[in-house]
Amino acid sequence: MSKKSTAPAACPCGGPSLASCCGPYIAGDAIAPTAEALMRSRYTAYGQRNEPYLLATWHASTRPDEPIMSDEEKVQWLGLEVKSALRLRQRKADDADLTKDTVEFVARFKINGRAQRLHEMSNFVREPAEAGDLRWFYVDGSFPE
Ligand SMILES: [Zn+2]
Repeated sequence: MSKKSTAPAACPCGGPSLASCCGPYIAGDAIAPTAEALMRSRYTAYGQRNEPYLLATWHASTRPDEPIMSDEEKVQWLGLEVKSALRLRQRKADDADLTKDTVEFVARFKINGRAQRLHEMSNFVREPAEAGDLRWFYVDGSFPE
């Protein structure tokens, strides 16, 4: 067998690899440092059907009580595109003091074989978590189209 470079599979969110992108956040080994990093890890967690992670990163004020995934709906996530324009406009120079951020993205997926496109502006807040460290949480989203 010839030597082949075994590049790790790309992260579902489009990052270079799961281990260097969303993996550590989902595994609880690291805290997502930005709203965008959290948003990406949540996209990846949807693809993994990781409901506990999605609920843990959902702000308590808007976190759903009902299961967020249904066994009947076969969702296949196809790709993520983060649109940064708005986020960059709103970003302050002192990032560490950010307590709110918005991430605009387009996610493509198929439900039961039918292609869909989700264009969302997600709102995030940054608050002390139970452990005392500052974490980003998903609050809600609006749909520009
Ligand atoms: Zn990722």
